[in-house]
Amino acid sequence: MSLPAVAVSQTPEERFREYLISRPKPQRFTDQQRELVRHIFAKHSHFDTDELLAELRETNRRVSRATVYRTLAKLVDAGLLRRIEIGPRTVYDHDYGYPWHEHLVCKECGKLIEFTDSGIAAAVKAVAAAHRFQMAGYDLVVKGTCGECNAAAAAKRRYVM
Ligand SMILES: [Zn+2]
Ligand SMILES: [Zn+2]
Repeated sequence: MSLPAVAVSQTPEERFREYLISRPKPQRFTDQQRELVRHIFAKHSHFDTDELLAELRETNRRVSRATVYRTLAKLVDAGLLRRIEIGPRTVYDHDYGYPWHEHLVCKECGKLIEFTDSGIAAAVKAVAAAHRFQMAGYDLVVKGTCGECNAAAAAKRRYVM
């Protein structure tokens, strides 16, 4: 379900280190932050803070909750991660080395399906331009039920009748 990666010249770690040292007040790239960046960019996924904390516990990576919150905010600011609001949930998604994309979210199983459509991006840009609106970004989240959940529901209806 992952989209093809986008070629980038730096690793996420290098990119983040550069971001930290280019701050008005340069910051140190700590071991805990490095652990976190490695873990997050090891595979493409969408995750919320609780899921990330649970995974870190399972893999015995010692990263404190406070560090996780602070580092996630910095990774978003650095352009490595994007935040997406899905109902009451805030999920994080790769934004570096990964193409811009939109999401379909299933309200039954919670699955996120990624898709790209250049027509949508063009339409959003045209709307912003028509309003002389300076666009900083957008997230499109389409809500509904996925094909598998629809098929499962249809099979259940057949069984009952
Ligand atoms: Zn589903
Ligand atoms: Zn995504």
